[in-house]
Amino acid sequence: MNITIKEITLFHVAMPLVREFETSSHKKSFIEHILVRAVDREGFVGWGECASPSDPYFCYESTETCWLILENYLVPSLLGATWETPSAAMALGHVNGHPFAHAAIEMSCWDLYAQHLGQPLADALGGTAREVDAGVSLGIEASIDALLDVVALHVDDGYRRVKLKIAPGWDVEPCRAVRSTFPDIALQVDANAGFENTDSSTNVFERLDALGLLMIEQPFHQDDLVAHAALQVRLDTPLCLDESITSIEAARTALVLEACRVVNIKVSRLGGLGHARDVHDFCRESNVPVWCGGMHEFGVGRAANLALASLPGFLFPSDLSGSKKYFAQDLVTPEIVAHEGRVVVPRLKPGIGVDVVMERVEAHVVRMSQHYAEPPRRGETQ
Ligand code: MG
Repeated sequence: MNITIKEITLFHVAMPLVREFETSSHKKSFIEHILVRAVDREGFVGWGECASPSDPYFCYESTETCWLILENYLVPSLLGATWETPSAAMALGHVNGHPFAHAAIEMSCWDLYAQHLGQPLADALGGTAREVDAGVSLGIEASIDALLDVVALHVDDGYRRVKLKIAPGWDVEPCRAVRSTFPDIALQVDANAGFENTDSSTNVFERLDALGLLMIEQPFHQDDLVAHAALQVRLDTPLCLDESITSIEAARTALVLEACRVVNIKVSRLGGLGHARDVHDFCRESNVPVWCGGMHEFGVGRAANLALASLPGFLFPSDLSGSKKYFAQDLVTPEIVAHEGRVVVPRLKPGIGVDVVMERVEAHVVRMSQHYAEPPRRGETQ
């Protein structure tokens, strides 16, 4: 199979969140992601989503750096080139780092590739699950009472697991309150690397260890695998790494050091679906369970995450809630919906399996740019 992309359009889209979201690193009230629309010579349309946070707090990338890398490097390298697989497509335009920008364009290549195969993306990736267990990730709240209200809302909605964001000063007490109010729920916490590697931090995690948590995610700085390994031996609760797992090499190092017992796989952080699948395969061979993390994706990225999470090593509930938790109306149809704590993997048609509603994109677009393998002829609009 030979695929040649003749046209790529980038859309910088900003949508308000239905509820402000706060973590140990920052607070956000809207999401601005870049959508990639790639059209090939046969007329297939592939979509990708760059899920970088607006500003460089979670990682060094931002919407602006992603726009620059996509526009100046990744889009020009792909236009007009012929490739057979998404990994071959990405080899055409390698730049050092910038995984969120890479992931966006790679996702559009996977969408095209799966359509050429005539398969849903999940099948093209080797996924088997028909549905994925949905977990919900809840931000830092103004008070413990407010947190308990939000947890109750999502437990009533049937979510299979609740994850609480924690930060120094918002750690043991809110978690203890949630655990005593909801003694039976699957509960885990995420520190987003917000703690210093000190004795007092270790004490916080030892007290959290007594709460019967599913896992404790990313306590320390992403580069400090040794600190995570030292903490893991003191705890019964498995540590999970997120920000630290930037590549298959980082995953190997983390497992060799026994710095975690669970891995959070994010398509964006790993630079695309192919690398995310590689980390999944490696963890599965190593008997380390994984789950799929999210970056508050719109429907395009959310559908791709669902396809990935249908692979057999995804053994814990993933951050794949229904779109309505985040947005009044998502950009795609059918909207992604959680029902009794499960989300169906899109398989109704080849590719990512959802349609982007252009009127909704246009209603929220901040800027767009179009790029052609050859300049459009007079009278040609796209
Ligand atoms: Mg995380």
